[in-house]
Amino acid sequence: MVGVRMMSNSSLVTVSTLSQHRSVGRNKQITKITIHHAAGVLSVESMLGWFVNPDARASSQYTVGGDGRVGMSVEEKDRAWTSSSSANDNAAITIEVINSAVGGEWPVSERAFETLISLCVDICMRNPGITQRDGKPGLYFDGTPGGSLTHHQMFAATGCPGPFLLSRFPRICDEVNARLALLTGVSPGVPEVPGAAPPPIAPGTSVPEVVPGSPAPSPGADLGKDTPSVWHSGDWEWAMALRTPDGVAVTDGTDPRGLITREQSVSMLRRVVSILEDRLEIRL
Ligand SMILES: [Zn+2]
Repeated sequence: MVGVRMMSNSSLVTVSTLSQHRSVGRNKQITKITIHHAAGVLSVESMLGWFVNPDARASSQYTVGGDGRVGMSVEEKDRAWTSSSSANDNAAITIEVINSAVGGEWPVSERAFETLISLCVDICMRNPGITQRDGKPGLYFDGTPGGSLTHHQMFAATGCPGPFLLSRFPRICDEVNARLALLTGVSPGVPEVPGAAPPPIAPGTSVPEVVPGSPAPSPGADLGKDTPSVWHSGDWEWAMALRTPDGVAVTDGTDPRGLITREQSVSMLRRVVSILEDRLEIRL
């Protein structure tokens, strides 16, 4: 693993249509992520289709759909044509996020936003040149092209990335950096205490991929067991099949080995309780 680093693409990608609108290779190290909005409500496939349209003359590395899926148009090893800036796009992984409504704040769905966070974490894990101001892996945004998180308005007169996403840039940095701190075992700002217990193994590490064809655990079979070598796919399916009275699943089924925030964990807990309340006709 040590030595030559092969440039890779995100394993979150489930649909890929490579665009001819790219420059082969890069003249800079990857040090940035640039977040755009699609300025439209459309499917991932339609976005990837536009990027291969000869009229488009544009592309991005990744597209995040409103349904949380991730598409790819340009591999990370090549420069995409996204940000109206050769200097930025040579240094950046660019992401288009599809909107959930047209106009106004140009919002994106919470599902798309969550996937965007996971995608940024994944990109930072594989590209150590993307750092916070202090050199730790991660993102910082200071409103200038010098930050490791940049946007289109820095380089062109455009509405992109829209007020909704732009207002969340600080939050994106915070969430991405917090997850990276867990994954890399670096807890920013917390001094090491001599004799303290070692940091916990980040969730997801040394968890094997599910082997295709291997029997899936029965739902609930691994409930309550501390078995870090097993991916709890049975419980995952169980949680997706459960529905609150409003028809919401306990988890949305994306990124099964990703980290979750406290906000997400209490939301999932609240959903389980609402199911219990509904079925038992009690109030907890
Ligand atoms: Zn843009």
